[in-house]
Amino acid sequence: MGAVEKQQRTLATAGTWEYAPSIESREIVTFEDRYGLFIGGEEVAPRSRSWFTTVSPSTEEPLAEIAQAGAKDVARAVDAAREGFDAWSTWKPSERAKVLFRIARILQERARELAVAESLDGGKPIKESRDVDLPLAAAHFFYYAGWADKLEYAFPGRRPRPLGVAAQIVPWNFPLLMLAWKIAPALACGNTVVLKPAETTPLTALLFADVCRQAQVPPGVVNIVTGDGSTGAHLVRNGGVDKVAFTGSTEVGKAIQRELAGRDVPLTLELGGKAANIVFDDCALDQAVEGIVNGIYFNQGHVCCAGSRLLVQESIHDQLVRKLKRRMSTLRVGDPLDKNTDIGAINSKAQLDRIVELVESGTEEGAEVYQPPCRLPEKGWWFAPTIFTNVAQSHRIAQEEIFGPVLSVLTFRTPDEAVEKANNTMYGLSAGIWTEKGSRILWMADRLRAGVVWGNTFNRFDPASPFGGYKESGFGREGGRHGLEAYLRFE
Ligand code: NDP
Repeated sequence: MGAVEKQQRTLATAGTWEYAPSIESREIVTFEDRYGLFIGGEEVAPRSRSWFTTVSPSTEEPLAEIAQAGAKDVARAVDAAREGFDAWSTWKPSERAKVLFRIARILQERARELAVAESLDGGKPIKESRDVDLPLAAAHFFYYAGWADKLEYAFPGRRPRPLGVAAQIVPWNFPLLMLAWKIAPALACGNTVVLKPAETTPLTALLFADVCRQAQVPPGVVNIVTGDGSTGAHLVRNGGVDKVAFTGSTEVGKAIQRELAGRDVPLTLELGGKAANIVFDDCALDQAVEGIVNGIYFNQGHVCCAGSRLLVQESIHDQLVRKLKRRMSTLRVGDPLDKNTDIGAINSKAQLDRIVELVESGTEEGAEVYQPPCRLPEKGWWFAPTIFTNVAQSHRIAQEEIFGPVLSVLTFRTPDEAVEKANNTMYGLSAGIWTEKGSRILWMADRLRAGVVWGNTFNRFDPASPFGGYKESGFGREGGRHGLEAYLRFE
């Protein structure tokens, strides 16, 4: 066969080329039939005597029965944390550091097991739980282990002291990673914790209880109470907590703030976002396309800092949208345990309904929708990668957090207009800027009301780098030296 003929044949079959499945084995993780609460270093049955089932969102298969903690269970966990605090806070900081280092190393050792559990319970692609969630969770424990005996140096002359019992409530989009963001700094500062994972994703937190046993975390230092929103509400209401840290929706964040009004309990809120990813006509376009795709389709768009509003300079709009659509057609949607998968399952039926409702509002309000052809699995909850063009700033899809794989495209002509449009939101969590001019990145970053601004990249995380919001995206910072401050008082 001649070279030209060979090339013709390759081109002719290119459209039908398919990936062979490469399924990560789920044998590595074994779930109990039933999980109690983790209180005082032991697994205990809930006094509420009530249980619920956690299911895999990609198959709707039940995975385990989970305890639903009531007010009495929460009170028991807070009491255990108080007892734990009396001992833990007197430990030599270097000894506390050893415990955190042990947790970090065990997370690395058990990374594959925890990654599979995360993908099964939450629906996220294994390549993300394996390459992002787990390495970052371990990195957070390593990072804060390093600070544990250096707090005097982090805050010179300010005599840092732990707060006491920290109530921590985390969402379902990064269950183990958000647990690490909360627990690592709290423990490093000498606090103890009662953590409530989200109802739909409790399993990695319960496996983490086992990691704590393995790492010889003293009883009462880490307590885990599972349940729905009411469990979280009991925890916030409990008079024994000295600190509340919450990541989740702005609506629940506001309810927590109201509940704490008049109480001397410090609060950290990490809430929603509607980030602008701003693309200038001088940027490296193909690189920007990758960044846009990562910004919105990573973790099915269940990301508070997702780049869900694409602001593109008018002169390159058509070219960029063409490139984006072509790239979207190569995204693989399906089995979270398949290592080829780019977009996994939507975390719950309720979340899928929310996405569908907002997408319908987009078409009703006049935006133009595009989804690449893709076959969605029959069981489970799925949503195809979606892009809206002709979006107006007033559209709901340009204002509200969709928390799904849906991108809204708007245009601008000048840097000033880009800043104005980017800031035209009640949120202020993150932003991205794509341009070849460093000075323009700095000029823009100065004017954007966002806690994190990425330049020529998106969704980059590092435990040493603080993260948090402006406006209705919340307050307080997690990560870095700033993240310690949320768990300390100063004498
Ligand atoms: P929630 O804010 O309800 O969930 C976050 C956590 O708070 C969960 O552990 C939840 O428990 C708990 N919770 C719920 N109600 C209360 C309460 N009254 N007091 C204390 N804790 C409570 O988010 P949803 O799951 O309802 O998601 C709704 C929307 O929120 C999403 O569509 C998305 O837009 C946004 N969201 C933003 C996140 C972010 O990181 N910024 C994360 C998650 C959601 P349980 O899950 O058991 O109800």
